[in-house]
Amino acid sequence: DPRIEGIASSIRVVPNFPKPGIMFQDITTLLLDPKAFKNTVDLFVERYTGKDITVVAGIEARGFIFGPPIALAIGAKFIPLRKPRKLPGEVISEEYVLEYGTDCLQMHIGAVQPGDRALVVDDLIATGGTLCAAIKLLERAGAEVVECACVIELPELKKRLTPNY
Ligand code: IMP
Repeated sequence: DPRIEGIASSIRVVPNFPKPGIMFQDITTLLLDPKAFKNTVDLFVERYTGKDITVVAGIEARGFIFGPPIALAIGAKFIPLRKPRKLPGEVISEEYVLEYGTDCLQMHIGAVQPGDRALVVDDLIATGGTLCAAIKLLERAGAEVVECACVIELPELKKRLTPNY
């Protein structure tokens, strides 16, 4: 798709952020380019229109930027998957392994129902650990995860922590 080149070139790469050796993919420069931002959302909307997706789940924090416009355009509800102690209601939690230590995502109980068809949205997939935790949360609540949508895949990190997904 000819739109992808413009999207890719709008993303800034910041060396050694947040720590030495990391090439940080910064999507804030994509957001400064209205055409690239619109094309990004449009590509996902085209892919997911007519797929009977009932819920878009965005992963904190950059999944909160791309998820809502996709949800509105395809007529799905939006739910935030948040870091611990951010959601005020009753939650279910899923811990996942990071390079150093663990992290956790939480979802409000009752936000999704059995039979919901879910799309998970984040800015970037590296190992896939974060997306796996999101999938597990949604499946524990009875939803079917149709697909995960990310703007960026880090090609040099094509290993998957969990072979089931
Ligand atoms: P994974 O769990 O290893 O797939 O890492 C993906 C998560 O880390 C996503 O929530 C991303 O937002 C975040 N992440 C990792 N590297 C970058 C980066 O270079 N730019 C932006 N986010 C990143």
